[in-house]
Amino acid sequence: MSTLTMPSDPLALVRSDLAGFSGYSSARTAKLDGDIWLNANELSWPNVVDVEGTLRRYPDPQPERLRAALARRYGCSPSQLLVGRGSDEAIDLLVRALCRPGGDTVLVTPPTFGMYAVCARLHGTRVVEVALSDGADGFSCDFEAIAQVAQTQGVKLVFLCSPGNPTGNLLPLDAVETLARTLAGRALVVVDEAYGEFSQSPSAVSLLARHRNVAVLRTLSKAHALAGARIGSVIADAALITVLQRCQAPYPLPTPCIDVACRALESSACAATDADVASVIVERERLGAALQAATEIRQVYPSRSNFLLVRFHDAQAALERLLSAGIVVRDQRATPGLENALRITVGSHAQNNRVIDVIDSLEMGA
Ligand SMILES: *Cc1c(COP(=O)(O)O)cnc(C)c1O
Repeated sequence: MSTLTMPSDPLALVRSDLAGFSGYSSARTAKLDGDIWLNANELSWPNVVDVEGTLRRYPDPQPERLRAALARRYGCSPSQLLVGRGSDEAIDLLVRALCRPGGDTVLVTPPTFGMYAVCARLHGTRVVEVALSDGADGFSCDFEAIAQVAQTQGVKLVFLCSPGNPTGNLLPLDAVETLARTLAGRALVVVDEAYGEFSQSPSAVSLLARHRNVAVLRTLSKAHALAGARIGSVIADAALITVLQRCQAPYPLPTPCIDVACRALESSACAATDADVASVIVERERLGAALQAATEIRQVYPSRSNFLLVRFHDAQAALERLLSAGIVVRDQRATPGLENALRITVGSHAQNNRVIDVIDSLEMGA
């Protein structure tokens, strides 16, 4: 490849007013060594409830062990990965590092995950929308329209979600790659793969070798069943990762969460996770087929995720019947384009049977 086709430097996408910004210098930033640590105003004895004595010290901001284990799991190098308080924090960091308040623009593709627009709004950044289209095969993304809008409206960040939440659709990786190539030097293309494990298809991490303006979000909250530990990752160009870390809180990860995440990424735990993912997929297909057969249901959208988006003839009746059976699902009816739709997370075999029973009972008008 000639130097003429060198990928554009993603650092050019960082807010110019943050050039040279080094963030907060914490007691853990300086690489010092010693036996007696009196530099962080920590107490010299553990709290009485801290029986193992692991909580007295501030945690490592980016524990190498955790970063290495996540990088191995996601197929990148540790320097390309920043770990934070869920991918929610990563979304916020990307918006704050790349977009000037009142200046730049974020592009989202509704119906999609709400946090992209929430973070942009809180930061004072404009949001433009290129809606997904709802066709016979489910929702799909108009990549040409995205490229057009991004190039003409000063878009710095494009948030794609694959598999989509709440739509369940997978985005074709070649189209994501073409978009990244078109927007090189102009915008960062973020692919949120919160549900990537359930899609059984290649991650956009593979695009990073050729496109430095791609970022991928991963999380332990969904497939790894650790939503309460708040561990998410952003995977991107190593220079961009350094900038994002400077924008991050000094000690983002609680020590117990670091420990549990490291154990969850050991090979035996990952094998158990992979087996759980395989059962969710089997259940997703079974639940989807059973619901599709119910006459009260208009459409079950194809899903590559761990939930089903379902359009009812009368979603209110379904919601009421499910709730009276003690089953709580996500009401999507207020979302434009999702009238009469509910999002149902795939549960255990027994839980899914209860959902099917309740939906079948609607037909009998009982
Ligand atoms: C659940 C979800 C997240 C949030 O992940 P955390 O790591 O728990 O913050 C991010 N993106 C999408 C699309 C999600 O559905």
